[in-house]
Amino acid sequence: MEKINQIYVNGEFITPHGTETFDLISPVTNQKTGEVVLGDETDTKLAIAAAKEAFKSFRKTTVAERVTYLEHLHEAVSKKEEELVKIMVSEYGGTLKFSKASVKNAIDSFTNMIEVLKTFEFQRIVGKSKVRLESLGVVGIITPWNASNSFICNKFATAIAAGCTVVVKPSEMSAAQTQLLLHCFHEAGLPKGVFNLVNGLGNVVGAEITRNPDVAKISFTGSTLTGKIIAKGAIDTMKRVTLELGGKSPNLILDDADLEKAIPAAVFGAYMNSGQACIAPTRLLVPENKLEEVNALAKAAAALVQVGNPMNEQTHVGPMVSIKQYERVQDYIRTGMEEGATLLAGGTGKPDGLQDGNFVKATIFTNVRNDMRIAREEIFGPVLSIITYKTEEEAIAIANDTTYGLSAYISSTDLSHANRVAEQLEAGRVVINEFKHDPLAPFGGFKQSGIGREFGVYGLETYLETKAILD
Ligand code: NDP
Repeated sequence: MEKINQIYVNGEFITPHGTETFDLISPVTNQKTGEVVLGDETDTKLAIAAAKEAFKSFRKTTVAERVTYLEHLHEAVSKKEEELVKIMVSEYGGTLKFSKASVKNAIDSFTNMIEVLKTFEFQRIVGKSKVRLESLGVVGIITPWNASNSFICNKFATAIAAGCTVVVKPSEMSAAQTQLLLHCFHEAGLPKGVFNLVNGLGNVVGAEITRNPDVAKISFTGSTLTGKIIAKGAIDTMKRVTLELGGKSPNLILDDADLEKAIPAAVFGAYMNSGQACIAPTRLLVPENKLEEVNALAKAAAALVQVGNPMNEQTHVGPMVSIKQYERVQDYIRTGMEEGATLLAGGTGKPDGLQDGNFVKATIFTNVRNDMRIAREEIFGPVLSIITYKTEEEAIAIANDTTYGLSAYISSTDLSHANRVAEQLEAGRVVINEFKHDPLAPFGGFKQSGIGREFGVYGLETYLETKAILD
């Protein structure tokens, strides 16, 4: 049984002042695997004070020095790639394929930021003035459980590039993954206090980060609900915020799409990260006159989806992270049926032979209306809704008829057609044909999917304050 009883403050692993514990439960067996001791406000204040002190000198580091730190971090995290994958699969239940990609993203965060630093201008001439982009200060990083280390690495790499110091509050459900990452960061040998981490609850550690006047910015990934609480709290001390929140992403299958390719891809795409993905394309918009063909293809694709042990290379959908998340998804499947949507695949209950863990059947609803709750709310599980449209204009209207605006997807055999549609969608990222990722392109949401952007130049700018000097 693993006991995680250390936090990381001022370059050292220390015993937290907080004494409460949180059980770590395997999502595959629902057996207790360990526990984590939770930090409290005292621990958080200590970590913030360390970051504040370290910022005094870290802000003065040169770009070349920051590149060196990023190289050391890249090297240290790369060395533990395999273990990081293993622990993500066992603690979180992410499939092997997804966990490998997620850890790769985490590792690449450091080299991506090195790439950005090569051409980034921290000083520019605008009008007749000198404009300096200066390090913001102490950044509070608050992250969820669904790709924990990848979020931490991306945010931390950006902070280093900007000359900021950080205090991280990860999800306590990711404590074992975080602990391994911490050892990598420690090995990278950064100056004391540049990186600090406090395990603990959102309403304790997260709340202290949100209200503490010595924190200049919060970079948060999580639910829209929590994002709003943080934004409201942050305004008292006028903190800068980057909020990466939920989504209910549309996937537009245009009239000229190759259905045989697009529909299976749409089904597997909706189940990315076992459906626990903010960018999952969970609303599949299809031409009304092709619904029958779409239903047949979607059902056939769902039959190929393997739900099961995430360690297995063939598994597409692993367990939900917790019983709470499992129950939430079950509630939504029941809601879909009560709302009158037609169940095409899956349904309530666990798949055969998978009674112990938090496994959900790969589920598809068809004949869904965009005003149903299953089409409006983020389910965060393997549940896809098929919605029809009569005209392309209507398809765009349905796609945009959501409070979210994180991602959107388009399938078409005509790239210029797809691009014309992309320009009309209200989403921070529009992906045309296949599920591509570009780590240097900005990422973030329109509307209630968030505030600000991460990655690349756009991400870096949000860790900097702009000063004009008129001499
Ligand atoms: P939550 O919003 O519940 O939690 C996210 C983090 O915020 C956790 O560390 C949590 O701590 C902390 N937190 C909770 N309450 C507070 C508070 N009052 N003040 C400060 N911090 C707090 O999200 P989940 O962990 O459930 O993650 C799933 C959500 O994340 C989904 O809605 C998903 O869409 C979103 N997400 C967004 C992404 C994006 O890039 N846009 C990417 C991935 C996920 P604790 O665990 O202790 O509650």
